[in-house]
Amino acid sequence: MQSPSGKPLPRPAAGDDGPGQPRPHATYWLLAMVAAMALATAATLWWTLRQTHVLAQPHQQNDLWYVSSVHNELARVSLLARKVRAREASAQDLQERLEVLFSTLDTSGRGPRVSTQLSDALPDAAQDLDTLRPLVERWSGQLGAAAGNSGNNSGKAAAGVAADIIRHADALLDRQRKVVATVHLFSVQQSQQAREQLYNRFIVLSGVLGALLLGTALLIGKLVRDVRMARAASQELVRANRQLEVRVASRTRKIEEGRALVSFILDTSPSDVVLAEVESGRVHFINRQLTERLRLKAAPETLFLADLLHDPETRERFTQTLDRYGQVDAMDALIGEHNPSWSSLSARLIEVEGQLAHLLWGFDISTHKALETQLRELATRDTLSGLLNRGAFLERSTALFDHCRRHGQPCAVLMIDIDHFKRINDRHGHQVGDTAIRACAEAIGEALRDADLLGRLGGEEFAALLPHATADSAMVVAERIRAAMAQMGLASPEGQPLAFTISIGVAEMAPRHAGIEPLLVDADQALYRAKATGRNKVLAYEAAIRQP
Ligand code: GH3
Ligand code: MG
Ligand code: MG
Repeated sequence: MQSPSGKPLPRPAAGDDGPGQPRPHATYWLLAMVAAMALATAATLWWTLRQTHVLAQPHQQNDLWYVSSVHNELARVSLLARKVRAREASAQDLQERLEVLFSTLDTSGRGPRVSTQLSDALPDAAQDLDTLRPLVERWSGQLGAAAGNSGNNSGKAAAGVAADIIRHADALLDRQRKVVATVHLFSVQQSQQAREQLYNRFIVLSGVLGALLLGTALLIGKLVRDVRMARAASQELVRANRQLEVRVASRTRKIEEGRALVSFILDTSPSDVVLAEVESGRVHFINRQLTERLRLKAAPETLFLADLLHDPETRERFTQTLDRYGQVDAMDALIGEHNPSWSSLSARLIEVEGQLAHLLWGFDISTHKALETQLRELATRDTLSGLLNRGAFLERSTALFDHCRRHGQPCAVLMIDIDHFKRINDRHGHQVGDTAIRACAEAIGEALRDADLLGRLGGEEFAALLPHATADSAMVVAERIRAAMAQMGLASPEGQPLAFTISIGVAEMAPRHAGIEPLLVDADQALYRAKATGRNKVLAYEAAIRQP
């Protein structure tokens, strides 16, 4: 991976987000910690509230107040009872005082907490309070009954009740003083204990809240850092994207310029170039040179390479080579459907835009081919007569001889030589001799068929191979040539008649002939005999060897 500036970017190790990268795992851990701290805070707060509630319970004060109230009212009842006994107060007053005491006592039964607290802490005091109520009821009842008596009896009865009250009250008051003190002490102890517990719980709550604050602060710090880093990364990304866009635009422009340059070069180059898909034949590029050579008005949209090749045999060879090796190098071929021209073709199988394509380029070798043909002609033709020279005649006549032999067909050879040619040269000059040779060659050619082969073997000596001809038919042709020569009627530059004759030896292919050479030797022997026996005549080999 590379940065837009081309420098390689540092690659983070596995599991490492890098020093400049936000760490989502750390954020999750902090979130989990803060959530746990929040839960712990809620639990501790609830726990502390419970303790506060316990401390706020006024039952300890109630107990104290209750016991003190009962004690005070009982003391008043006791004081009043003494006055009643001393006849200083009426029974009615005592009765009212007892009712006040009775109302002070917890008669509702809704004070289980008070009773419970007391019964737990001071079971005797609680029992005293419990026993006071029936006593008060009893005293109140007795005073009521005493009030019903007449005169002195009533006073005595009330004094009796007062005495009973004083006796019980003194004992109860004595014990209740201790209870008040004890309850007071007990309440103070309980309050102290609860305050201490509340203090401890506040310490725990403070610790948990501190941890929560710390975790929250860390989380906020982490989130702020993450946001900053994300913003910085985003800005870096935007910057990198811009740089990348600039580089891509620049690269694209360069590629387009490069393409335009390549197209220009290929269009102006003397080579033929085409790039076309193998399957669809879609043309990616074809240069002007090839378009003009194919005589097309515009660049074709599709083109298959095989269709370019004119000759079916070359097309087959070209396609096979390209399919097998993926390339063709400098194969000479005629291209174009009409008026084909020679081209040296090379091709490659390549991939373009994910598709197989053929890239073909070629050079026009028409001139080269024409020169080659001309050279071959020059190499095989005799410049004076225009006939095949000795080498070419031997080569082609060998092939024709073999063909006839293979197909069981006859063939015959004529060996032709101008008689006394030296004399022509000597008498009229060498140039006239050349003219005679040319005229002789022309006359022999006219007498032969197209399928016959004629060559100048050297000097004024010619040879002709007549396929499908027997010795007899060849003799007829040879005679026709000889007769034509005799009647040719050439004239020298000075206007003098230039008459000359020829002699011809004829030989037919026989099983003894291994090739064209022995057959030519036989014909030459016949020619020799014709010369030896008078010239201006045609002689077959069979007849010649029979002559003495
Ligand atoms: P014969 O009847 O026995 O054939 O007699 P001849 O004079 O024709 O004898 P020969 O065939 O030996 O002579 C061939 C002569 O042809 C020799 C040479 O000077 C001449 N000659 C060979 N090539 C050329 C040529 O290209 N042009 C000319 N003008 N003369 C040539
Ligand atoms: Mg001669
Ligand atoms: Mg000769």
